[in-house]
Amino acid sequence: MSEQVPLLDDSGWDWEPAPRHPDALRAVVERIRENDDWLIVTHERPDGDAIGSAFAMAHVLAALGKTWRFVAEGPIPERFHFVPLSEKAYVDVDHVDRKFKHVIAVDCADMARFAYAQKFIEDGADIVNIDHHYTNPMYGVAAWVDAEAAATCELVYHVARALQVSLTKELATCLYTGILTDTGGFAQPNTTREVHQITAELLASGVQPYDIAEPALESRTWAQMRLLQMALNNLTVSSDGKYAIIYVTQGMLEGAGCTDDDTEGLVGFTRSIDTVEVGALFRETRDHRVKVSLRSKRYVDVSKIAQAFDGGGHTRAAGCTVSGDLTDVIDAVVEQIERALEEAKR
Ligand code: AMP
Ligand code: MN
Ligand code: MN
Repeated sequence: MSEQVPLLDDSGWDWEPAPRHPDALRAVVERIRENDDWLIVTHERPDGDAIGSAFAMAHVLAALGKTWRFVAEGPIPERFHFVPLSEKAYVDVDHVDRKFKHVIAVDCADMARFAYAQKFIEDGADIVNIDHHYTNPMYGVAAWVDAEAAATCELVYHVARALQVSLTKELATCLYTGILTDTGGFAQPNTTREVHQITAELLASGVQPYDIAEPALESRTWAQMRLLQMALNNLTVSSDGKYAIIYVTQGMLEGAGCTDDDTEGLVGFTRSIDTVEVGALFRETRDHRVKVSLRSKRYVDVSKIAQAFDGGGHTRAAGCTVSGDLTDVIDAVVEQIERALEEAKR
């Protein structure tokens, strides 16, 4: 075993809040210190936390004089193009010509979440796993999984601090993006004192909240608005008012001039209904599958519903992708939602 890395230092970071699992953080930090050439990966259809934590790691590695590549599972959505370095993600196989021995996976509940990037990972490669999904099986040679963290960016903040990397505006922008989006603009139940302590410190680097909130959360393209109009037309609520569903077909996406990523945020409208506990969005994919997004408010664990269909996520936000016709998948998932609501009554 190598020498323990000191976690406290005099580099100017305000040492509040403390990381919840210092030993796991230490293991991650040691791996990063010891190796110089890294592949960064994150989950498919990357969200603000996936993108923020991946590029924050890139900044950390660059600041330490290490080399990095980031292979994304799909294009970086336009609303995240403001994230520093975001033009440097590789979504095209031709641009990465080798395999990596050292990999950092951020915001990935399991290894299937970075299936595409496997091509660039050597057999038996060392994987460092930094995540906040409680369903994470702790894969990798070093795993820091903290389900109490609102965002993976909250954990990468601690990694950056432990490695004594300067908190530049660029690094802070990446971290702020993940925390802002995974807390739904500091509004979801995962918003904690630590979240506000960390973001307060990020602002000290010169980050302007609206410069991030406007593109990441508020802004919609006209095509996305047209899709919203269409989707709200099929929004339905159960007779008891406890769950609501909304769907998007390939035809609707084409009609609105949208891509698959343009459904982001739609599921929120199901949960906005005052009586609703569980909201679900169903999106037809091009390969005869249905991407399901699940949200809950106070007492239903939607990750359990997602897991029944080989998906995963958090208690209040989860997802899965299910093979079959849209109507069949809706029926099957609704059955599980009704069961979960019924069980919650007992
Ligand atoms: P989404 O509905 O895609 O916005 O996902 C909601 C949450 O569930 C996010 O934290 C995702 O990372 C997670 N999630 C979505 N799909 C899956 C999956 N197939 N496996 C594990 N986690 C998932
Ligand atoms: Mn994510
Ligand atoms: Mn996340």
